[in-house]
Amino acid sequence: MSQKFLVFSAHPDDADFGCSGTVAQLVKEGNEVVYCIVSNGEKGTHKVKVSRQAIISLREKEQRAAAGILGVKKVVFLNEKDGEVENTKALRKKIVKVIRQCRPDVVLSFDPVNLVFDNFRRYHRDHRQAAEAVFDAIFPAAGSDAFFKELKIKPHTIKEAWFFASHSPNLWIDISKTINKKIEALLAHASQISSEKELRKKISGWAKETGQEKHLKYAEKFRKLELL
Ligand SMILES: [Zn+2]
Repeated sequence: MSQKFLVFSAHPDDADFGCSGTVAQLVKEGNEVVYCIVSNGEKGTHKVKVSRQAIISLREKEQRAAAGILGVKKVVFLNEKDGEVENTKALRKKIVKVIRQCRPDVVLSFDPVNLVFDNFRRYHRDHRQAAEAVFDAIFPAAGSDAFFKELKIKPHTIKEAWFFASHSPNLWIDISKTINKKIEALLAHASQISSEKELRKKISGWAKETGQEKHLKYAEKFRKLELL
């Protein structure tokens, strides 16, 4: 039975790094996938002479192109400021709105409890704050009438959450057939890529390492949590 998946990404490209092989595989199997990008990612550039709005537009365009490669139907942008994402009531309300409108079976997001701080890029504050906001929005807010009544959208409870960038994974997805789509999607974020060769090497290396844990050629891993 096909299902609906909603993927939250702190910045444009985070979800493509974290789970786009899985996304392409889910689409291949007939599932519907929607992306929601929390922050504009306007600080993700070294071109200081370009205007803020130009960077926002560019990163949005790149993210839409990446989503198109994967077969993602829709991309929602929450337009939070890069580097200033906070788990506030206002952000949770925006996330709850997307969950209630999209009504997914499964939500994918950064793991909110991955706090080992062994990598500066992975533990970017925006990643941590966005992950917590998504977690708090999933339960109990999105599924409860008592939260954000003013949205006037019927509450919705998801079945499962799959957290990527997790230190306690319990779900491995075979991406052997979609590793090339993952690389292609990441290359669509051209403003973020300095070397195509390095990216190909890095991504296939990570996926191979993850796959070896479960005797798969290439894989991505998640911490799956059931809600219903
Ligand atoms: Zn990021």
